[in-house]
Amino acid sequence: MRGIDVPVIDVIVFSSTKSKVMKSPDHTDVIYATSIPVYLRNLEREKAYLSIPQMDDLAQRFVEEHKSYFTYPMCQGWGIDPKDLITGVQCGKCERFGMVKIKRTWQCPICSHRDSDAHIAAVKEWFVLIGVQMSNSDCRKFLQVSQHQTVTRILKGMNLIITGKGKATKYKMNKKTLSGQKNFYVDRKNSIRSQT
Ligand SMILES: [Zn+2]
Repeated sequence: MRGIDVPVIDVIVFSSTKSKVMKSPDHTDVIYATSIPVYLRNLEREKAYLSIPQMDDLAQRFVEEHKSYFTYPMCQGWGIDPKDLITGVQCGKCERFGMVKIKRTWQCPICSHRDSDAHIAAVKEWFVLIGVQMSNSDCRKFLQVSQHQTVTRILKGMNLIITGKGKATKYKMNKKTLSGQKNFYVDRKNSIRSQT
């Protein structure tokens, strides 16, 4: 690696402590990022491979060349079948999915909370998790709304990039808005819209 000869150890590191390991591999340790310092300190050391200035230099180069790994749509990158995700608009109060579209707003059938903007998060989630361009039908299925017109109004009110006309109309989210969702969704990867 970069002309430096050091021993390489395989370790799987989870960035979030919300991740759970159902069955860990036999020959590789699985740890959380917070345990890295302790893990390293406990490794057997035979000899020093790098001097302190070399280590500082290497650390600096790692930081400078770091690129965050992030691809859309996330389901594709993570190998998740979008069919396994819970659909529907989430209630901001009781957090259940399936708010119902009523005149001018959304209403939760469980706690009766109303929010006229409740669909916004769900539409963003569709772009983050499922696809690059959304049709009216994709949106109707995801928001659990049957009226074509209602969904057209919702999508046109969301500052999306619109291509095509009539039935061929597609909506895209601009890259900047999409990137803005990054931290939120990476942290919630294992809990967002999952059935378990
Ligand atoms: Zn509710």
